[in-house]
Amino acid sequence: MAKRKIHITDVILRDAHQSLIATRMRTEDMLPACELLDKAGYWSLECWGGATFDACVRFLKEDPWERLRQLRAALPNTRLQMLLRGQNLLGYRHYADDVVEAFVQKAADNGIDVFRVFDALNDVRNLETSIKAVKKAGKHAQGTICYTTSPVHTIEMFLDQAKAMADMGCDSIAIKDMAGLLTPKITADLVSALKKSLNLPVFLHSHYTSGMATMCQWAAVEAGVDHIDTALSAFAGGTSHPPTETLVAALEDAGYETGLDLVTLDKITQHFREVRKKYHQFESEYNGVDTTVLLSQVPGGMMSNLANQLKEQGALEKIRDVFEEIPRVREDLGFPPLVTPTSQIVGTQAVINVLSGKRYENITNEVKKYLQGWYGQAPGKVDEDLRQRAVGMEDLIDVRPADLLPRELHKLKDEIGELAESEEDVLTFAMFPDQARTYLEQRKAGTLQPEPLEPKPTMKAMGSVSTEFKVTVHGETYDVHITGVSPSSDKESRFYMTVDGMPEEVNLETLAEFNTEGSGGGKRAKASAEGHVTTSMPGNIVDVLVKEGDMVEAGDPVLIIEAMKMETEVKAPIGGKVVATHIKKGDRVTPSEVLIEIESA
Ligand code: MN
Repeated sequence: MAKRKIHITDVILRDAHQSLIATRMRTEDMLPACELLDKAGYWSLECWGGATFDACVRFLKEDPWERLRQLRAALPNTRLQMLLRGQNLLGYRHYADDVVEAFVQKAADNGIDVFRVFDALNDVRNLETSIKAVKKAGKHAQGTICYTTSPVHTIEMFLDQAKAMADMGCDSIAIKDMAGLLTPKITADLVSALKKSLNLPVFLHSHYTSGMATMCQWAAVEAGVDHIDTALSAFAGGTSHPPTETLVAALEDAGYETGLDLVTLDKITQHFREVRKKYHQFESEYNGVDTTVLLSQVPGGMMSNLANQLKEQGALEKIRDVFEEIPRVREDLGFPPLVTPTSQIVGTQAVINVLSGKRYENITNEVKKYLQGWYGQAPGKVDEDLRQRAVGMEDLIDVRPADLLPRELHKLKDEIGELAESEEDVLTFAMFPDQARTYLEQRKAGTLQPEPLEPKPTMKAMGSVSTEFKVTVHGETYDVHITGVSPSSDKESRFYMTVDGMPEEVNLETLAEFNTEGSGGGKRAKASAEGHVTTSMPGNIVDVLVKEGDMVEAGDPVLIIEAMKMETEVKAPIGGKVVATHIKKGDRVTPSEVLIEIESA
């Protein structure tokens, strides 16, 4: 009897580094492995989409389209796969259909073969346009179930969704377990149900976070799954995926065929093990098995983002509170699965609720839009009081949100003008307007610079500065020889040294600093009066809605701040006259600074 084939998709070039090193792997570190990756015998390589596009433009100063073309050329024999957020594409809002159609066509033209398309709410109306566009481009359309647990999510609900996606013409169905919530039993039940009622290949994508993913894949294979996603061991485990080599060894031993061999896989892994060291500064603090995910449902990428965000404002100790708040916010919003963009929507609101000490005192614009229906249909019932408070008298939407969006590609072309040298550039601008404009301007000026990577602790970081000192403290003199320095964050540096020949380690933490960013002048004062407008999140000012002399009512929006990729309106704490503004568009601000002063009339 012929061996049953289990097809493997490796996510080393996309989800693995997105999960473990904040999506920072550069194309230059991928290309040297491509020859072996291409020969290895994978069914596909996930290499594009998800957060990679954003990271390329924002941090790496790479053209994401050029990355795709280079990978296409270097991987001529392997299907290239991307993750697409349905009507959100790779951005964080709903796009009009003409942008979705153009984006899918360009992704296909530049090299994508397999499109895994999902919607954060599992609202299949948000998948229609992209699936149609994938089919029109002659490519593989994979409809995705975002797996989550809640009182409203049942096998039947997922099955109905899968049937609807099959009816839309999908070539396969993926179970996407972004947080590692699947158990082996539920995996087997879900896979069996899908295989029984649909005549389509089923893929399983499960994160390792809770430690169950390898068991789930085994259960899935026994229940009839056709494809599994794995990551080469150099970037496996933790919030990433089960290790490719482990699965290959186990499956081959049990008489399944994977088409992969351990010798080749080991060579590729060794390359990526070296590569990973280069990005040590992005390693999450949570890269073991973390079973709290079974309570909080926080997916891997979101966990490290939240930790970084809290660390930035010296509130890392609040992370457990935030993890407890997340399920409450999620319930209030009708149990959305936590995946981009709902993970950011829920996560940011949870952070705000915890840091401001009062739930929903500030409601982000995205939560407001979500409650209005701009993201689609919530899986369960939303909290009506909260909806009233957030939406007020404005209309609710019950149609497919994109039906209300006028065609916008022409407008985007006009807005970015000649900075865009191709339609791909226009689409980059559509995804991330501010970041893309900066990127395109720098490209034109020839000043593109990727964010710096921190060196490993080494003397090189000291440059030509003297490293030997005599230090006198309280009348005692010591010979100090600095042997290394490792900046562990913006505000902290760790110095390695010998003092009179004894090794010592000293941590320097900056407590106060001069504000050198923007032209906001010196540091802003701390808010102390009731008319002082401030923020509970560090972020960038997107817009200032008032000017000196304006009269405002308590609760009027006075500025918009972007934090964690999300915009939030900040409201006037009291009514009165605006007597001073200390900010302008683009300024970086930190919590409890006075941003605007209002004097009661
Ligand atoms: Mn994933």
